[in-house]
Amino acid sequence: MKQYTYVINDDISLEDVARQISDKIHRNPHVTSVLQVIESSGTEEIIRYGYEKASKWFPNMIIYGMTSQGAIVDGMHDVTIDYNGMGICSLLLFENSTVVAKGYDCHIQTPLECGQDYLNLLNKRKDIKGILLMSSDITLFSEDFARTVLEEYPDVPIFGAMAGTRDVTNDRSMVYFDKEIYNKGIVAVAFCGDDLHIETKKSLGWRPLGKEFVITKSSNDGLVQEIDDKPAIDVYKEYLGVSENRFFYDNTAAFPILFLQNDELVGRVALYCSDGTIKYTMPIPEGTKASFAYARKKYLLSESLQNANDLISFNPQAILIYSCVTRRNFMGDLLADREFLYYKNVCSNSAFTGGYGEFLFSDEGAGLLNGTLIAIGFREGDATLSYIEPYVDEDLIQNEELLPLMERMINLLEKTTDDLRENVLQLYHSANHDELTGIYNRASFNYYYNEIFEKNNGPISAGLFLIDIDHFKHINDTYGHEAGDLVLKKLVAYVNSVLPERAVFCRWGGEEFVCIIDNINKEEAISIAEHIRHTIETSDFSPIPKITISLGVTVISDTETSHKDIFKKVDDALYEAKESGRNKIIFRT
Ligand code: GH3
Ligand code: MG
Ligand code: MG
Repeated sequence: MKQYTYVINDDISLEDVARQISDKIHRNPHVTSVLQVIESSGTEEIIRYGYEKASKWFPNMIIYGMTSQGAIVDGMHDVTIDYNGMGICSLLLFENSTVVAKGYDCHIQTPLECGQDYLNLLNKRKDIKGILLMSSDITLFSEDFARTVLEEYPDVPIFGAMAGTRDVTNDRSMVYFDKEIYNKGIVAVAFCGDDLHIETKKSLGWRPLGKEFVITKSSNDGLVQEIDDKPAIDVYKEYLGVSENRFFYDNTAAFPILFLQNDELVGRVALYCSDGTIKYTMPIPEGTKASFAYARKKYLLSESLQNANDLISFNPQAILIYSCVTRRNFMGDLLADREFLYYKNVCSNSAFTGGYGEFLFSDEGAGLLNGTLIAIGFREGDATLSYIEPYVDEDLIQNEELLPLMERMINLLEKTTDDLRENVLQLYHSANHDELTGIYNRASFNYYYNEIFEKNNGPISAGLFLIDIDHFKHINDTYGHEAGDLVLKKLVAYVNSVLPERAVFCRWGGEEFVCIIDNINKEEAISIAEHIRHTIETSDFSPIPKITISLGVTVISDTETSHKDIFKKVDDALYEAKESGRNKIIFRT
């Protein structure tokens, strides 16, 4: 396959570019021609004008694209808008592969319905190697489209971008396909072919900085009303000194918030603030733990450089890049263009697109992203030996003697953040665990115990076990306190080895332990208790010949009224076990 990329601007007209495209089409044998057009004026008449011309000149070509906010490549942005507009056209000529593409008007269908329709169109075909997704209207839930398609094609990567608009408060983003322009729509292009290969790379480079917050109130249109139970703007005021005013976006763009989504770090950019509520590019679920993020330009570039150089061995014949405008704004055009050079080194005709957010649904992508750069490599046929030298960026390896103040401040903040987070983790661990045995302590038990009562999915049926070592005082007296400690540790290990995964096992105090297991009935509880008792009786505690335990057991159900009664029950049961000879279990209903 072949890729050719052209910029349309004041100097190079639509007609000039069309002539060059026409030339390439005639020179290169192909079965499918695809043209991706990224437009930066965001003006419908301009897009329509260009589109109608292009469709007339190239009737068999698949033409799709989207609007992009501001700079799109090579530092070119904000050009005077004549009727040519400003655009990046990337031509993909496939020798054997085909595409299945469709555009959707989401005024008529929801993204989910569009996804179902698209699945019908794909018709279970097996040779889909990747699906490009573009969407317009920042409030559109295009993730639903991707998730619907992924249900049938879980291993096919979905990538692309959200169309940009010049003014976030006045969304005029558009996507287009097949002569239709959608201001609230989705365009999907599936690339199919038995000898087609697609490789995706994601570069982030932002790092969490400072305190971790909890999103306490949010809605699924991307609005966050409260963070840490206070108006969302308050954390921006307190930690960044940023208020709700017309500079809100400019003041916060370099501080996306960062959190884990499906084990992948993702960023979200705040778009604007109104009455203390903040609008983000995408929804952030309540309960999400997030931090402000900051990236040194060096981090952003290093990760991307590595990814670009890694692509060399894949031997791509085409590269499509989708990157976040936040990234470009933060880096500045100069560095953003340098980042783009890394990919041009691998594939000279790589095409760059700036969007409001990027899509990457794959092993390494968690879905909707912000602040990242997604690079998609395409190749038809086998990889041949490549002679491309990895790109070396001297600026990234140079160690300057005199560091700017900002650099030193960030160093201080990053290191302090890391240390504090480490301390918090340690404190959290010791507040919840027993020092000697390492299992949960009484405070943790109370937490998990209450959790069972607070859950509201179905009836409660939890086994409660109180475990006490028999004649432990005698063991201490005979073998010493240290030997006694060792018994406690070994006992915990033996009990843990027979407990189901979901059991919560805690040290109640002294030589007494408590265990709670959700979703079990009386028979199961008795069987587990008996298993524990037997395991301890038959386990090795040398030099102590034999250790036995007694257990009081009950099953907590919905009919229970007082926690005090529940504990009295297991306590009485344990007492009875002791009184009636020890090394036994007593169950109380
Ligand atoms: P019973 O069979 O009736 O339970 O008799 P017991 O001796 O096990 O019970 P008692 O409550 O009289 O004694 C418990 C002993 O456990 C007393 C205390 O010194 C010891 N103990 C409590 N915590 C620890 C600990 O952390 N390490 C050690 N080695 N001993 C402990
Ligand atoms: Mg005791
Ligand atoms: Mg005891």
